[in-house]
Amino acid sequence: MSEQGNSYDIVVVGGGSAGIATISSLLKRRYWLNIAVIEPKEEHHYQPGWTMVGGGIFVTDETVRSQKSVTPKGVTWIKDEVSSFDPDNNNVTLKSGATVGYDHLVVSPGLKLNLDAVEGLAETMGKNGVTSNYILDSAAYTWDLVQSFKGGKAIFTQPPLPFKCAGAPQKAMYLSCDEWLKMGVLEDSDVEFCSAGPALFGVADYIPPLMKYVDKYNIQLNFGCNLVAVDGDRKVATFAVTDADGKSSRVEKEFDMLHVCPPQCALDFVAKARLPRITGFYQLIFIRFNIQNLVMFLVLVIQLRP
Ligand SMILES: Cc1cc2nc3c(=O)[nH]c(=O)nc-3n(C[C@H](O)[C@H](O)[C@H](O)COP(=O)(O)OP(=O)(O)OC[C@H]3O[C@@H](n4cnc5c(N)ncnc54)[C@H](O)[C@@H]3O)c2cc1C
Repeated sequence: MSEQGNSYDIVVVGGGSAGIATISSLLKRRYWLNIAVIEPKEEHHYQPGWTMVGGGIFVTDETVRSQKSVTPKGVTWIKDEVSSFDPDNNNVTLKSGATVGYDHLVVSPGLKLNLDAVEGLAETMGKNGVTSNYILDSAAYTWDLVQSFKGGKAIFTQPPLPFKCAGAPQKAMYLSCDEWLKMGVLEDSDVEFCSAGPALFGVADYIPPLMKYVDKYNIQLNFGCNLVAVDGDRKVATFAVTDADGKSSRVEKEFDMLHVCPPQCALDFVAKARLPRITGFYQLIFIRFNIQNLVMFLVLVIQLRP
């Protein structure tokens, strides 16, 4: 057990679902550990709930908790953000300039929503019929759009991997279609799923049951179809479409509603850290947390002093 000055047995970067679940799990097994979580936000977000907000089942506030209320007792919450890693000396540097030392480091700061990778998307998000359940402030707008939809063209997009929750782009679509069926406007609607991927879902066993809903709602599936630009004023989405021969072309589609799963990537401070290649005596743990299965995938990169 170590806690000397500003040093801990375990430092967790990011107090989201992954960070907090990992801390809880560790403390259940080794209650004496000195753990610090570095998390800049006062609010903790339950992101799977945003699908429900977009489907009119939750309101936004139900997906938000105070960070304090979800941080296990006895854990030190450092309200700051990590700006760089120094694994040779087992410490991280914070935005404030302070350093925090550790014996073991858990890096769980989530993914960056890269709206800038789609031309015009950031400017029009949350208006002009363009929405995303991936953004806290836009999920309620999805439900507004669904309720006010009078038929027309609705497009739901899915970017290339990586993106969080493989099901969320489709869940937004099926919940919307179900509401339109109840409202009696689905038969006047033209619903398209535009995915950069090659299939409806990455796990083949899931495809037949999903196809039942695709057929029920008469959804047109477009694969190899990657959103590259949005013109909110004209309500036109542009896709890079790759055909069976691998040829790529740009295709414009008009829409009345556009639900976007934004491209995602590592946060800048993680991308530039090149963590797995750094030498020295440390353990680095990357965690991806899957709430649905309550399974944590731990990728342990362990390098011992040569
Ligand atoms: C619409 C939607 C629906 C989903 N549905 C499901 C579902 O049904 N089932 C399922 O399993 N998963 C689902 N997911 C995925 C799941 O919610 C995420 O995978 C999960 O929330 C990720 O948790 P995380 O802790 O890795 O990241 P986050 O929850 O994003 O937390 C990362 C934390 O790190 C902090 N941070 C960022 N930068 C720094 C820094 N420099 N220093 C310190 N801290 C930092 C952030 O403030 C944040 O609090 C869904 C996601 C979305 C968006």
